[in-house]
Amino acid sequence: MRTLENQKALVTGATSGIGRAIAVKLAEEGATVYVTGRRAELGKETVDLIEKAGGTGHFIVADVANIDDVGRLAEEVGEVDVLVNNAGIFPFSPTPEQSLDGYEQVFGVNVRAAYFLTAALAPAMVAKKKGAIVNVSSVAGQIGTPIGSVYNASKAAMDALTRSWAVEFGAAGVRVNSVAPGPIATEAVTGIDMFHEISEATPLTRAGQPEEIAEAVLFLASDRASYITGAVLAADGGFVAT
Ligand code: NAD
Repeated sequence: MRTLENQKALVTGATSGIGRAIAVKLAEEGATVYVTGRRAELGKETVDLIEKAGGTGHFIVADVANIDDVGRLAEEVGEVDVLVNNAGIFPFSPTPEQSLDGYEQVFGVNVRAAYFLTAALAPAMVAKKKGAIVNVSSVAGQIGTPIGSVYNASKAAMDALTRSWAVEFGAAGVRVNSVAPGPIATEAVTGIDMFHEISEATPLTRAGQPEEIAEAVLFLASDRASYITGAVLAADGGFVAT
């Protein structure tokens, strides 16, 4: 039997990169996967990939920077067994040059959307005493970098939410964990200065692939991780170990 047979999952930011790989992986393991993102044609591409892999997928358009969209998304998707808060943006700026708007965008997408989506969907998990939430944070939440302070803070906030929610929902059997990726070869980041240098500096001397993050998310979402909650699993080629 597949790991997520008869389960329903929602993956945010699943129109590209890591989110798309997670959506396909969860569907391969039997989940019906709700894919969300801003662009319908890209959402359709993810659903097509899910169907090609023999799974079932649905797309719901939502801009999670918009809090009304977050509420509508939660209503449209209804109860889920697995929630993956993956949508994220990473505009980098030195702190003295950070605009207020940019600051609020990063926290709006990376933290507020995950917060209120979880607030809307966790009660049903608690009521049926079953559910798994996985936050895709980043090793950037555990280290300092010369630029990217807002992004780093947003990812540390996600890990803090992971620990808080693990405590808040644990008695109901709802598990909450983070996967903290290191350098992962997605279109969004391979063009960034330093990406290749950072990848080669990892103990595994290479960038990770989106599918390798999807495996970590699948593990934490599944009953195989039944005694794991409040954990931040670095999937980073050993980056934070250096
Ligand atoms: P990506 O840009 O391909 O993925 C981010 C997804 O979030 C996209 O599908 C994007 O459309 C979506 N998104 C952004 N703003 C949105 C909004 N307002 N409404 C709805 N969707 C929105 O990049 P990725 O590399 O796949 O990153 C996925 C996640 O992994 C992010 O949270 C990122 O911070 C995290 N991460 C990535 C890396 C890496 O090296 N690639 C490393 C650490 C953490």
